[in-house]
Amino acid sequence: MTFDLTSEQDQLRDAVRALGRRYGHGYFVEKAKAGEHTTELWAEAGRLGYLGVNIPTEYGGGGGGITELAIVCEELAAAGCPLLLLVVSPAIAATVIARHGTEDQRKRHLPGLADGSAKIVFAITEPEAGSNFHRLGTVARRDGDDWVLNGRKCYISGVDEAGHVLVVARTEDSSTGKLKPALFLVPTDAAGLTRSKLDMEIVSPENQFLLYLDDVRVPADALVGESLDAGLPALFSGLNPERITVAAMGAGTGRYAIERASEYTATRRVWGGRSIGSHQGVSHPLAHAAVQVELARLMIQKAATLYDAGRDLEAGVAGNMAKYAAGEAAALAVDTAVQALGGAGMTTEYGVATLLGAVRAGRIAPVSREMILNFVAQHVLGQEKSY
Ligand SMILES: Cc1cc2nc3c(=O)[nH]c(=O)nc-3n(C[C@H](O)[C@H](O)[C@H](O)COP(=O)(O)OP(=O)(O)OC[C@H]3O[C@@H](n4cnc5c(N)ncnc54)[C@H](O)[C@@H]3O)c2cc1C
Repeated sequence: MTFDLTSEQDQLRDAVRALGRRYGHGYFVEKAKAGEHTTELWAEAGRLGYLGVNIPTEYGGGGGGITELAIVCEELAAAGCPLLLLVVSPAIAATVIARHGTEDQRKRHLPGLADGSAKIVFAITEPEAGSNFHRLGTVARRDGDDWVLNGRKCYISGVDEAGHVLVVARTEDSSTGKLKPALFLVPTDAAGLTRSKLDMEIVSPENQFLLYLDDVRVPADALVGESLDAGLPALFSGLNPERITVAAMGAGTGRYAIERASEYTATRRVWGGRSIGSHQGVSHPLAHAAVQVELARLMIQKAATLYDAGRDLEAGVAGNMAKYAAGEAAALAVDTAVQALGGAGMTTEYGVATLLGAVRAGRIAPVSREMILNFVAQHVLGQEKSY
């Protein structure tokens, strides 16, 4: 067992950290408050190869795995730039296409995802079904050579920045008559696809949308994979990378908050000249949060290692646990940091309260803490499925 990164991974971590710090949380908040996107940071990260670290080299990527992408997510977040679209575009969409797309889909989409010139977002959640794919109401019907999609999706991140949406729908299997999941690459400007922006209480340059699919017609090759049988494995292949990278983003955000607070409490002096950090009432909650973040990081490393070794089932358990742990640790770290900073904690200038909404959302999305506990109860503890 080793806890060390390879020298390439170490270099990647240092380089991404340096990039993130050049932009910093001030840039992230400024963009969010202006209703703009972090276009410059995304483009530079793409140019430097960081957005495609997990994409095979033959399609313009770095040929690494989710371990490398998790490093990118964590270090940008640790610099105050938690980019949710890293989880959606390179982690979910690129993995699904690389693993289950047709050769034509790989050639068409992966190079743009790798260099950051293209983004593909992911739409599974629905108003009625939540993210329970057994209940999805978005249906794809075959019409000649085309597919026609109808349904509604909610909370879909980044649709305004993306060229395509990877839509999870259900199709009827002609041999069994049963509905089964299928994934479609739908251009964001397709006729019949409309969106409305949701007002979210999260300081973020990335937006969430309601999506309406009304007779959206796409050609046969919009279906991910060679046949309908690719749907379920393709969907599952995106879930572990999603959980692991969102966990990494949470861990990075936790590190960022603890670092901000520790710098402050080590130097801030009130009532008698001792630093406020010398009071255990201030330092212990921060130390406790640091322990939780570090534990989550260990689980993220385990999950990513298992995933990259092709051990998908074990990675599923570890990835869910890592996501749970990191979601809780990030929320604790940011809340504790705000408290340690006192009034400064609530100012925009100190850059911590700006993360409250994001870390709170991290306990709900992309999979809620309750659904992870359901997964662990069922798959680790052998309990009957409750829903
Ligand atoms: C910032 C943000 C970005 C998002 N981005 C995307 C995106 O890009 N693409 C996308 O598809 N979705 C996205 N989502 C949606 C997100 O994945 C869902 O909000 C999440 O999966 C929860 O689903 P829901 O909101 O429908 O909650 P519901 O399913 O309505 O659940 C509500 C509450 O009940 C609990 N609950 C529900 N069922 C059970 C059960 N059986 N047992 C115990 N508890 C249960 C849930 O845990 C939750 O706390 C995003 C959400 C947010 C907040």
